[in-house]
Amino acid sequence: MSRLAVVCGGSRGIGQAVCRLLAQRGCRLAVVSRNKDAARATAASLSGAEHVAFSCDVSKETDVQRTFETIQKTCGNISYLVNAAGTNRDGLLLRTKPEDMVDLLHTNLLGTMFTCKAALRSMLQTQGAAIVNIGSVVGLKGNAGQCVYSASKAGLEGFTRSLAKEVASRNVRVNLLAPGFIRTDMTAGLRENEAARSIPLGRFGEPDEVAQAVLFLLESPYITGQVLVVDGGLQLAM
Ligand code: NDP
Repeated sequence: MSRLAVVCGGSRGIGQAVCRLLAQRGCRLAVVSRNKDAARATAASLSGAEHVAFSCDVSKETDVQRTFETIQKTCGNISYLVNAAGTNRDGLLLRTKPEDMVDLLHTNLLGTMFTCKAALRSMLQTQGAAIVNIGSVVGLKGNAGQCVYSASKAGLEGFTRSLAKEVASRNVRVNLLAPGFIRTDMTAGLRENEAARSIPLGRFGEPDEVAQAVLFLLESPYITGQVLVVDGGLQLAM
C-alpha cells in the first residue's frame, strides 16, 4: 500500500503545495486544517490515490488526539508527518496582548508537539518514517515586531533536534525547514516589492519551492535533526 502522509495546515499555502507534491509521488494524503471544507477541497483536488480531509485545531491537545486516532483507524499507519499549520500576529512586544501570545505559542509550538506525540506510536511501526516541522528564518535570526512568533519558531528548533535524538534509534527522522518570505495568505498583507529588496534572490519564494525542500527532507534517509533554510538567501542579509 502507498505511504500515508499527514499534512497539518494542508488546506492552503505551503501545506497545500506539500500535499500536491506528495500526491504526485504516490502518497495517500490526510489533509488537516480547522476549516473542513477547505481541507476537503484540497483533498479532492489532489492526483492519484484516495485522499481524506480532517478538521482539527492543532492548538487543542484533545482535538489532535481524537483526530490522529481516527486517521490511524481509517487510513492506517503514518509514514510522513508535515507540520505546516501556523499563524502569525505581528506587532511590537509592548503592544502584544497576552491572549495573542498564548494563541501563537499554542498553535505554532505546542500544536507541533501535540501532533508529533499523537503520530509517533504509529510512525514507529512504519519503515522510513519522517517528520518535517515548518519553522521560520526569523526563529533563527529574530525580527523586530515578531518576538512571540520568532520565539514559537525558535522553540521548534530545540524540539526538532531533541525529538530527532529520541527517535533516531527507532529509525524515525525529524527535521526542521525554515522558510523566508513565501507567497501565501500569511504574507498577502506585506508590500512585496519593498520586502523583496532584502532578499538576495530578489523575490518571495513560491509554496511549491518550499514543498520541494520538504520532499527532499522526507525522502533523505540519512538526514535527521537538521535545519534546512529555504529563503532565497534572506538569512545572509539579516
Ligand atoms: P497560510 O496562512 O497560507 O496557511 C496556514 C495553514 O495552517 C492553513 O491550512 C490553515 O488552515 C492552517 N492552520 C492555521 N491554524 C491552525 C490550527 N490552529 N489548527 C490547524 N490548522 C491550522 O500559511 P503558510 O502556508 O504561509 O504557512 C505555513 C507554515 O509556514 C506556518 O507555520 C508559517 O508560520 C510558516 N512560515 C511561513 C512563511 C511565509 O512567508 N508564508 C515564512 C516562514 C514560515 P485553517 O485556517 O483552516 O485552520
